[in-house]
Amino acid sequence: MWVRCWRANGSRSLPAGSSSHYNTVIVGAGSAGAVLAARLSEDPARSVCLVEAGPDYLHLDELPPTVRGFDFTDRPYAARKTLSHEWQYTARATDRNLNMPVPRGRMVGGSSSINGVVFLRALRSDLDGWAALGNPGWSYADCLPYYRKLETDCDFLSSEWHGAAGPVPVSRAARENWLPPSEAFYAACTTLGALEAPDFNAPDARGVGPIPTNYHNDIRHSSAIAYLMPARPRSNLEVRGNTVATSLRLEDHRARGVQVLHDGQAEDVEADEVILCAGAIGSPHLLMLSGIGPAAALQAIGIQPLVDLPGVGQHVRDHPFVATLWETTEPGARDRLTGLPWQLMLRTRAGQPDDGWLTMLMSTPRDPNRGRGFMIPSSLMYARSTGSMKLASADPSVTPVLDFNYLSDPSDFEHLRSLARLALEIGHHSAFDGIRAGLRQPTPSDLADDASFEEWIMRTVSTGHHISCTCRMGPPTDATAVVDQAGRVYGVENLRVIDASIMPDCPSVNLNATVLMIAEKLADTYSKSPTASATRSMRSMPVK
Ligand SMILES: Cc1cc2nc3c(=O)[nH]c(=O)nc-3n(C[C@H](O)[C@H](O)[C@H](O)COP(=O)(O)OP(=O)(O)OC[C@H]3O[C@@H](n4cnc5c(N)ncnc54)[C@H](O)[C@@H]3O)c2cc1C
Repeated sequence: MWVRCWRANGSRSLPAGSSSHYNTVIVGAGSAGAVLAARLSEDPARSVCLVEAGPDYLHLDELPPTVRGFDFTDRPYAARKTLSHEWQYTARATDRNLNMPVPRGRMVGGSSSINGVVFLRALRSDLDGWAALGNPGWSYADCLPYYRKLETDCDFLSSEWHGAAGPVPVSRAARENWLPPSEAFYAACTTLGALEAPDFNAPDARGVGPIPTNYHNDIRHSSAIAYLMPARPRSNLEVRGNTVATSLRLEDHRARGVQVLHDGQAEDVEADEVILCAGAIGSPHLLMLSGIGPAAALQAIGIQPLVDLPGVGQHVRDHPFVATLWETTEPGARDRLTGLPWQLMLRTRAGQPDDGWLTMLMSTPRDPNRGRGFMIPSSLMYARSTGSMKLASADPSVTPVLDFNYLSDPSDFEHLRSLARLALEIGHHSAFDGIRAGLRQPTPSDLADDASFEEWIMRTVSTGHHISCTCRMGPPTDATAVVDQAGRVYGVENLRVIDASIMPDCPSVNLNATVLMIAEKLADTYSKSPTASATRSMRSMPVK
């Protein structure tokens, strides 16, 4: 039986008058940053400063309800959202969707504090693919011990694949709690030939089954809760909320700390080493502001390039999705809800040959004002299209320009169309006959002919919130690589990036568990190799 033991003594500042020089400064207290702060501060000889742009809540009972858990019973979801906890970016999705909202978490816990708590591991093929791209230490076999270390799987405690003592509790909806649309979804999928998949975190699991989540006892177990709360009493760990890093402090291609803004006041935080954990948008943004990135583009907006790393901000990957929405006669979809409404998923290739997995989640709409219903979204888990980000200005407060460029590769479009058709087939299946009242989206006119259906996809395709690969890990011979296998930035000493941005390719699953795994694995390298430098001097530009 999982027992969570809360340590909520709050963050501690170093004693008054002590230097603001640290061994390690970590920028961003999200999924990765909180893990690293907790693991590195286990060594009492290492002082760690964790800098976070958003607010810090010291105790579980201080957390806003929408951060602590999900509440599907009162006011509309949109109104309940506390937008001050989000970075609100926009991106071009396709030419038919130029201003797609792109939320990211902005608080201690980062995106793990606002996410959908789906807790899936990458597949064996995903991670072996990372190794094949020139990162031999990142195969499935190398990563599995860290997936085990970070979790307590409440359903598979004695399995060889799972952890029984990690900080993140993982569980699945028990069959007796499945909602009627979930039961119908399961029946439809199995009738159509899907295998039963009781554990999607077993290697290579496919078929239909319950989604593993890190939602436990009505609490979203963010990295802030699972990792940081127990570490807060340590005197060698300082957490600075509401503090925005605006630039790196660099001398002779060596990181010396970060410049931050707190209450409108600029300050230098000095450190022997800087770890950027600002996320797949925040980390490349900070690198570029500091002169590390595509040299010509930086020069064009008045930033003196320090290291020409063309891969910074490039190769944006995500899981684009479209959602079919259905009316239901079943009164219980939300009224009978005892936990999360997204309970089951289907992992399938949807008729495509061997191009990767496509995952479909079944969920009920979160907004009570939309009436009763259920949703069958289709997510493209192996998109080939890549997007990009670039700076609009050298001013750190100006958000970067994001172009996600979804479905620009024709095979992506074909796959998503197959998946959307499968979602319609499932929703129309006789298993839903007793509870389906009609299809709300796509509308009859969207379905009038192939062209209308394709137009609906291009207009409604949206972010799966799994932005990654913007500072990719790779060998020195890969001109697009930004960091080496240990997250060390090429051409700058004592600077690492450790977050979703360093993934060599986007795995075919939601990202949170894999970001935690990356942070756990690289935290482990500190006991073995405390220095941080990955040089590729030919890309270094003279400092003027
Ligand atoms: C709405 C939403 C739903 C999602 N649902 C799921 C899901 O169900 N399952 C799943 O596995 N994944 C999900 N994800 C994705 C997953 O949560 C993220 O991929 C993961 O949390 C990213 O971790 P990270 O450490 O890279 O970045 P983040 O967790 O985003 O952390 C970055 C942190 O850096 C801070 N920061 C950025 N810039 C600065 C700066 N200049 N100065 C100081 N601090 C800064 C940010 O405020 C933030 O706290 C979701 C994401 C979102 C946004």
